[in-house]
Amino acid sequence: MRNPHAGEPFTDSDAEIAAALQDVSIPALLMSCVHMTDDPAVRQSILDGPLRPAGLFLNEVQGFMSEDDKAAARSLALQIITDYRERGCPETDPVDPALLKQMMDWIAAAEVPDEYVPMMLEEMGLDGTDPRSDELVCDSGARTDFAVLVIGCGQSGLLAAIRLAQAGIPFTVIEKNPGVGGTWWENTYPGARVDVGNHFYCYSFEPADHWSEFFARQPELQAYFADVMGRHGVAEHVRFNTTVTSAVWNDDTGTWAVAVSGPDGAETLHARAVISAVGQLNAPFIPDFAGAQDFTGPSFHTARWDHDVDLTGKDVVMIGAGATGFQIAPAIAEHVGRLTIIQRTAQWMFPNPNYHAAVGPGKRWAIKHLPFYGRWYRFLIFWPGCDTGLAAAKVDPDWPDQQLAVSAANDMARLMFTGWITSQLDGDPHADELAAKVVPDYPATGKRTLQDNGSWLRTLRRDNVELVRGGVDHIEANAVVDSHGDRHHADVLIYATGFRVNDFLSSLTVTGRDGVELHEAWGQRPAAYLGITIPGFPNFFCMYGPGTNLASGGSLIFHSECEIRYIMGCLGLLLASGKTAMEPRREVYDDYYRRCQDELQTLVWSQPSITHSFYKDARGVVHSLSPWRLVDFWAWTRSPDPADYVLR
Ligand code: NAP
Repeated sequence: MRNPHAGEPFTDSDAEIAAALQDVSIPALLMSCVHMTDDPAVRQSILDGPLRPAGLFLNEVQGFMSEDDKAAARSLALQIITDYRERGCPETDPVDPALLKQMMDWIAAAEVPDEYVPMMLEEMGLDGTDPRSDELVCDSGARTDFAVLVIGCGQSGLLAAIRLAQAGIPFTVIEKNPGVGGTWWENTYPGARVDVGNHFYCYSFEPADHWSEFFARQPELQAYFADVMGRHGVAEHVRFNTTVTSAVWNDDTGTWAVAVSGPDGAETLHARAVISAVGQLNAPFIPDFAGAQDFTGPSFHTARWDHDVDLTGKDVVMIGAGATGFQIAPAIAEHVGRLTIIQRTAQWMFPNPNYHAAVGPGKRWAIKHLPFYGRWYRFLIFWPGCDTGLAAAKVDPDWPDQQLAVSAANDMARLMFTGWITSQLDGDPHADELAAKVVPDYPATGKRTLQDNGSWLRTLRRDNVELVRGGVDHIEANAVVDSHGDRHHADVLIYATGFRVNDFLSSLTVTGRDGVELHEAWGQRPAAYLGITIPGFPNFFCMYGPGTNLASGGSLIFHSECEIRYIMGCLGLLLASGKTAMEPRREVYDDYYRRCQDELQTLVWSQPSITHSFYKDARGVVHSLSPWRLVDFWAWTRSPDPADYVLR
């Protein structure tokens, strides 16, 4: 079978190919040429030659190459591609590891450190296999009576289902919604789109060449997950419209009794293991505003968007300007009568000109036909956002004024982002007034940094839009009164106020060994070893659990792939042992928690100068985020260390 990344053969004319090349990423194109050419001298001339990226930066996929160099690269590529076409588009020979390393260094425009090379190779899966789908070491008989129950069918639950199916382990997925996608099912608000580039924000083993935009909108993402679910044949294992209410461990039988409630009523399912894939960002948070119950017009949370409410011509007040509010305002401002945005804290934003851009036909053609072009394009998106962001998040205790920046690198980010924001106000008569509202007064990257193509400030400059930098005092029958005492008339009230992120697994009651309930066991320290396993809760695994949200780079799908690989490793370990239950050693868990907290204390997200942030719990402690480099998390989750676990 042809390697799926080798590209589909094509017969396009020279002119058609040349037209497509106008639109592509030149660094990814030249790496594809290295695969395509059958002449070692040409290959080496690309890697050693003067046409090369000058640097790599997040969302900049041309490597800062000059127009002349790009033009020269296109004509070189045209020769190589037409020759490849004349040869019948054969499957290309595998590239040896030394050459691959050279290619990585070339496209990164810097040496890729050795410890990252295996991770990046695995991420790209160039040989067409799915390297994170490890064979379980146990025999197949042990698997077939080891039923697993997965809670949730968002991106992580679906991934768990795919891996369980591949391993021949029977499983059921319980999903409260009528369809797959989790967040991408529920968040249908206007403007909803992903903010990690889609050619990376997709399963490593399920790349999609069809993305219509670089940062796809919700319907396209939900359709992707539905498509993947269909192609992996797992839909028949998913019980939609069904809610898990509790899970109780029985130590005698080594099983979980899971209470579910669905269209056919309530019942109890039994499973040998439970995988919680309930997500962190799905329990809507609506603050307890005085007078909210008196509001007479329609009001709803962004994750429960009421599409029956026509906003045309209406006075709309939106409370909240986080990642969600930031996407909604530009999408509705043109249609509403008046939009008032109550923004308690300004957001840092990052320049991304492609944020709303369509993927041109040339790029789609290249991904579909040019060998490994899509894989190198994925590298271009992943690598610059990999672990470099963590460096800018690290607190330098000697940095003088910790209110605005926490280190020299962090201050540079502050200056760059401030420049990006204020440059958009050049020439605006109200520039100073607006800048005072939109330039944050806390360190850059301390809260989620938003992708921006200019649409936020364009929206704020509209005559029918007002941004209030302040909070809410109270709500009246048809208005919101802000913390300055100003009254804003509202026909419709939108709560863009985020989620109860720190109430992990809040929709469930989970009772482990000795009748201990998970939330009682956690108290004020929700945690899991590697974000996955918890002592006292045998055969219970979390995906996207405590300490696994990402704030400085990567994608949650990457993290999920790491987590499920580890979980499958645990299941393999347990099944091969002939025992019935496994849980992490208490001291391993405690040590991991302490190391996480120590590390988090050194990062900007814990800074006391950041007063409001969903990264922090009510006491100001960060439990949701991972403080680790992606390469460390990847290495630690490749397989479980049996010494970390008690098997019974
Ligand atoms: P959020 O970032 O928590 O933002 C909530 C907003 O509500 C903030 O502006 C917050 O102000 C405000 N707020 C909360 N309580 C308030 C109160 N009592 N009074 C006044 N204002 C209040 O939530 P979100 O925007 O829904 O985003 C959550 C996360 O979802 C994101 O960080 C991201 O991980 C994910 N998300 C991703 C995308 C994407 O991929 N494109 C899109 C949307 C969401 P403060 O800032 O002062 O707290």
